[in-house]
Amino acid sequence: MRRILSELTLLRCSNCGSDLGGLSTDVIFYCSECGRCWISGERLSPVSIEFVRPGGPDSILLPFWKIDATVTILNRISRKKSSASAAGRPRVFTGSERGLTESDSGSRLVRFIFPAFSTSLILSTGVRMHSENFLPEKTEHGKRFRVIGGSVGRDDAVLLTRAVAVGVEVNRSDFLASVDLEIAVSSAGIYAIGCTPEKNVLKINGSEIGILYAAINDSDEILKQNQVFSD
Ligand SMILES: [Zn+2]
Repeated sequence: MRRILSELTLLRCSNCGSDLGGLSTDVIFYCSECGRCWISGERLSPVSIEFVRPGGPDSILLPFWKIDATVTILNRISRKKSSASAAGRPRVFTGSERGLTESDSGSRLVRFIFPAFSTSLILSTGVRMHSENFLPEKTEHGKRFRVIGGSVGRDDAVLLTRAVAVGVEVNRSDFLASVDLEIAVSSAGIYAIGCTPEKNVLKINGSEIGILYAAINDSDEILKQNQVFSD
């Protein structure tokens, strides 16, 4: 009984005491009463939230992780389209003779954005979003948004950042053979990005990127929740 009570307590905003509704798998909650965003763990901890392309009444605001990280490429080997045939000649096999080159060493600060809700397309969506410029919009003072909860916690987000970074490298058009990189996350926050329900996909506003309903674990509940919000 005590346990149930403490779980209920977790679902109250630590700032204003309002109920934080959500799905049973949610760990990210936005309080539409006071505008704070929380991540549940041992206790609720605050996380920054910014609004991106909120769109009109048809839009659903979904949480995405916005991770700024220093990416250090330790070793990146690409395989050129073809490697010269050296048949008949004695040779020493080196990387470059097999058509391998090293490039892009060094560090850079990179922003990664990927879904904080449960979808099997987190990585591919993150790789595709990497090439777009998502900037937060100035929110109208006093305007309250409804944001769907998220189920990808901060620790998972840090792990996923590394996977997205590798995906971004693999996605370059230079026939990557291998990449070794290090990631140091400098900040992690939430972007609430407006998405518009279409026939088979949730389309990210102002983008060509859509996420298939079939690949979103709670798509029915998400659409249903939004119905409740807009009533
Ligand atoms: Zn609140």
